[in-house]
Amino acid sequence: MTRNPAENSPVTLLGLGAMGTALAGTWLDAGHPLTVWNRTPARAEALVPEGATAADSAASAVAANPLVIVCLLDDASVGAALEGVDLTGKDLVNLTTTTPAQARPRSAWAEARGARYLDGGIMAVPPMVGVPEAGGYVFYSGSRELFEEHRETLAVPVGTVYVGEDAGFAALHDVALLSAMYGMFGGVAHAFALIRREDIDPTAFAPLLSGWIAAMAGPAVLQTAAQLKSGDLTADVVSSLEMQVAGTATFLATAEQQGVSPELIDPYFELMRRRLAVGSGEEDLTGVVDLLLR
Ligand code: NDP
Repeated sequence: MTRNPAENSPVTLLGLGAMGTALAGTWLDAGHPLTVWNRTPARAEALVPEGATAADSAASAVAANPLVIVCLLDDASVGAALEGVDLTGKDLVNLTTTTPAQARPRSAWAEARGARYLDGGIMAVPPMVGVPEAGGYVFYSGSRELFEEHRETLAVPVGTVYVGEDAGFAALHDVALLSAMYGMFGGVAHAFALIRREDIDPTAFAPLLSGWIAAMAGPAVLQTAAQLKSGDLTADVVSSLEMQVAGTATFLATAEQQGVSPELIDPYFELMRRRLAVGSGEEDLTGVVDLLLR
């Protein structure tokens, strides 16, 4: 990392919560001149000894530099912070977590005020910021020009993954990955509940469980994608839907015997049964995807 500010483009950052503060530290460490603003000024002033310039308003922070990064609580706080602020000629990068339906009008809102707009979805927690080996990154969508122009600066805190011109796509990718994560956490909770009352050390069980999830998840995700793309839900099936639906009886009986509620796994089993009723038993589980579309 270079520490020569003259060689690095200046950055304005609005929002110094847990995430904003972590981001700020990486640009300062890399030698980017950094202007910061936070609603509660003490958080901005705390970065002055580190080399940041604390602006006394969001408007003056935005005026200071062409590249403006925003990392606030939610879309409403972005609107509040930037209300009446002149965005003419600015490159606005919004890392605030939102829904796609908030990101798209926010993009149009910024463009109507003369700014280029890039939306971001942060796939990292603060301790992963500035730690390349932690594997964190940000999904970006919106202005490709803005992304290409500021690519190196944006890559300072964590990696970058550009997913398209539609400003809503970063938020959609973010939520899709996190939704899958919560589904997985649901399965993990059910698995620990099954062994909870037994003489099984959860810390000995854990590597078995995490290893199994890792072994199953990668191939299953790729198989689902390939079948969705080709439209052939019977291609390369290893475990048929018919066999898997029959197997659910074992899982539900075991939950019953262990005194564990099936409330996390049975909704998925119900979708498998519904797909078997209307689809082919020679498929695997991909047919469940379209049953979710309303
Ligand atoms: P924090 O709660 O730590 O900070 C929230 C920030 O938003 C503070 O700077 C706060 O200012 C500001 N803020 C809240 N409301 C307003 C408002 N009405 N007007 C102006 N400023 C406001 O959140 P994080 O820093 O952790 O998160 C920031 C964003 O990053 C969120 O969208 C979050 O979803 C996302 N993110 C966070 C992750 C995490 O693990 N922390 C992981 C991935 C994404 P003040 O200091 O005055 O309260």
